[in-house]
Amino acid sequence: MIKKNNKSIILMVLVFTLISSFIVASFGNIYANESWEGKTYTVGYFTNGFPLQYMSDDGDPEGLAIEILDCISECSDINFEYYPILKGTTEEEANNFDMIASFTQINDYNNNIYLHNDRSITYYEIPLFLSGVYGFDFDEVTKVGIFDYKYLDEQQIHDLMPNAEVYRYKTIDDLEKDFLAGKIDFAFTTNIIMQMLLRADVDNTIQSYPLTLTIPLEIVFSDKITSEEQDYINDIIANRDQDIINKIILENSKDYSLDEKFLREKELYSSKEMTRNIITTTIVIIIIAIFIVQIYKYHLEKVTFFDKTTGFYTEYKFYLESKKILLNAKPDEFTIISADVDNFKYINEMYSFNTGTEVLTRFSKNIRQGYPKAILVSRIHADNFLILMKTAEYQNSKDNFNMSDFSDLVGDSYHVYYSQGVFVVDDPEQLMSTMVDCANFARSVGKDTYGNTVVEFTDEMNRVREVKNRILSNMESALKDKEFEVFYQPKIDLQNKTTCGAEALIRWVTKNKQMIFPDEFIPLFEKNRYITKLDLYVFREVCIFIDDYRDKIGNVVISVNLSTITLLLDKIDEMLISILKEYNIPINLVELEVTESAFVDNLELVMQQVSRLKSAGFTIALDDFGSGISSLNQLKNIELDVLKIDKAFLSDSLEESKGVVVIENVINLAKSLNLKIVAEGVETLESANVLADLGCDIAQGYYYGRPMKLVDFKEFLKIEKFD
Ligand code: C2E
Ligand code: CA
Ligand code: CA
Repeated sequence: MIKKNNKSIILMVLVFTLISSFIVASFGNIYANESWEGKTYTVGYFTNGFPLQYMSDDGDPEGLAIEILDCISECSDINFEYYPILKGTTEEEANNFDMIASFTQINDYNNNIYLHNDRSITYYEIPLFLSGVYGFDFDEVTKVGIFDYKYLDEQQIHDLMPNAEVYRYKTIDDLEKDFLAGKIDFAFTTNIIMQMLLRADVDNTIQSYPLTLTIPLEIVFSDKITSEEQDYINDIIANRDQDIINKIILENSKDYSLDEKFLREKELYSSKEMTRNIITTTIVIIIIAIFIVQIYKYHLEKVTFFDKTTGFYTEYKFYLESKKILLNAKPDEFTIISADVDNFKYINEMYSFNTGTEVLTRFSKNIRQGYPKAILVSRIHADNFLILMKTAEYQNSKDNFNMSDFSDLVGDSYHVYYSQGVFVVDDPEQLMSTMVDCANFARSVGKDTYGNTVVEFTDEMNRVREVKNRILSNMESALKDKEFEVFYQPKIDLQNKTTCGAEALIRWVTKNKQMIFPDEFIPLFEKNRYITKLDLYVFREVCIFIDDYRDKIGNVVISVNLSTITLLLDKIDEMLISILKEYNIPINLVELEVTESAFVDNLELVMQQVSRLKSAGFTIALDDFGSGISSLNQLKNIELDVLKIDKAFLSDSLEESKGVVVIENVINLAKSLNLKIVAEGVETLESANVLADLGCDIAQGYYYGRPMKLVDFKEFLKIEKFD
C-alpha cells in the first residue's frame, strides 16, 4: 500500500513544501520595537490539528501555524514559548496562555475555548472547496456537509447547488462518517479533509470546486495582551513585503520531511479503516492534482490581497478583515474612513499615468502617517482608500493629517486636494457594504466644497442616503406600476402671448402619494443607466398624449429631455422614430432637449449623435445654456434649432443692468445663428416683458404655469391669450 502511494506522498510533500515556504516567505520585514524587546509570550497550540498545529512524536509543537509564529518571532523582537492544549485542558487553563496559535473551530475539542477574545488579523488562509463523488449534476445535489464554522457563508453553496440542504458538523470525524456513509453528497474540503478523502473508502473519482471562502488563521489574544501589543503584532502581519514573498517562494524551500509525518498521521487513523483501503493511485493523483491547482490558485489570490502600488490591502481583503474585527465590536468603537484625491481622473489625463501613480503613492504615505494607528488600510480602486481604526485613535489623529506637496509633479498652479468621509460604526452588525456606503456618502458631500475636506456622516445624510437606496430598489417596480408621471410645463410665445409648447417633466408619485422630484432620482438613474428607460418612457407617454389629443393640440410642440446617456445610445434615432411611427405622430410636434453639459464631456460624440437626430428630422434644443462653461462661439458648429437660457443665468442677469446687456448679446448672437430662444424660469411679468423687448421668442416659467398634471395642462390649453 505504501509503495503504491509513493508517488502521491512525494506530491503531497511537494504541496506542503510549497505552502510552508510560502508562509515562511510571508514575513520579510524585520521589526524592532524597544518596548517589547526580548519579551517571551506563552502560546497554546492544539495538538491534533495536523497539518496546521499538532504535536510531533517527540512532543514538539509542529505545523504551519507554529511555523508562522516562528516567523513573526524571527522578524520582530518578541519570542514565543509553545504549550499543548490537550483534550483535558479546561477553558480556564487555556486562558492562562498569552495567546493561542490559532483558533479554527475545526479541531475536535476546542469548541469552547477562546471564543470571545481578541484576535489578530489573518496570517494565513486555508482555501476551501466543495468536494464530492464525480458524476453529480449540481442541480441534483441535495445534501452538503460543512463545518459549523462561523465565517462560512452558505450562499455560495446555494448558488452552486440550488437544491442542496446544508448540514453543519461540529467535528471532522462526524463529517467524515456521514460522507463515507453516503449521507451527504458533497463536503467542504480543506487540505485537512483531503487527507480524509485519501483514507476514504470511495470507489469513484472525486470532483472538487473552488469557493471564494477560506478559513482564516489568526492569533487569539488573551486579556493579558494590551491593545498596543496587538497593534504591534498586527503591524508585523500586515506589513509583509510582497517582493520578498515572491522571491523566497521561488528560491527557498524548507525541508519538511513530511512523508514521515504523513505516514504517522495515516497510521493514527489506520486503526479505524485502513485495512479496506481501495483507493486507486489514479484517484489519489487526481485529488492531489486538484489540490496543487488550488494551492497555485490560492497563491494568485493571495497576491491580490495586496495592492501593488501602495502595498495596502485590496478591497476583498479589507472587507474580509473588517468583518472579523467588527464581529465583536462595541457600538461606536470603530470608525471607517473613505478617502480619495479630488479630480484624480483629471490628474491622470492631464499629466501622465506615472504622475497619477506617484500622486497615489504619496497620498498613501500621507494616509499611513496621518493615521498611524489604523488597523486596516486598503486601496479599493483608483484613488479610493478605506481605513478602519478605533474611533478614539481617529479622534486623536484626525487633526494631524498632512497632505504632501505635489508641486514638483503638477506644477504650482494646480493643487491636489483630498476628500475624506468619516463613518463611526454605530451598529457593528450592519452590513459591511452599508457602512462603507455611509463613509463614501460623507466623502461625496465634501466634494461640493473646494480644498481638503473631512466630512463626518450625519443623521441627515443617512436620511438622504436611505431615500437614495429606496429609490434605487424601487425604480423597476415603479415604472411597471406607472408611478412615474409626466407633468407638462407650458411655453408661451412672447410675440402673440399664446401657448406654443410644453416641456415634459417627470415626477415620481409613490403609492402613498409622496412626490419625488427629478433632481433626487435623475442623477442616480444616470449613474446606473436606468435613465434611458425613463427617457424612452417619457417620450412614449408624450406620443400617447399627442395621439390622444390630436384634434385639439394644434401646433403645440412638446419637448422631451434626453439625458446624455440616452443621447449616446447607438440607435437612439431609430428608437425614437419607431415610437413616433407606432402612434403616427408628425416629427415636428416633438422636440428634444439636450443639456449643455453633455457637450462639455463628450463634444465629438455628442455632436455626432445630435447630427444623426437632426438628419432623422428632429428639432434639437440646447438646454441649460449659461449654466456651464460653454460659449455660443463654441457651440456654433453644432446643429441646433433652439437655445434654452438657463433659469439661474437668467435670474442673475436680469437683476443688474450689465446682466441685461449680456442676455441681449446672447439673444442677438443666437439669432444670428438662426436659433429660436426660450427663456427658462420666467417668474414675473417684468422679466417676461424685458425678455420680449430683447427679442426672446418663448418664455417658460412659474409666471405662466408650473409643471402640471396632464388633465390640468389640457385645461390650460384652452386659455387663448395671456397678458
Ligand atoms: P430642466 O430640464 O432644466 O427643467 C426645468 C426645471 O426648471 C424643472 O424642474 C422646472 O420645474 C423648473 N422650473 C420651471 N419654471 C421655473 C421657474 O419659474 N422657477 C424655478 N425656480 N424653476 C422653474 P424639474 O421638473 O424639477 O426638473 C429638474 C430637472 O430634471 C430638469 O431640468 C431636467 O434636467 C431633469 N428632468 C426632468 N424630467 C426629465 C426627464 O424626463 N428626463 C431627463 N433626462 N431629465 C429630466
Ligand atoms: Ca429641460
Ligand atoms: Ca433647463
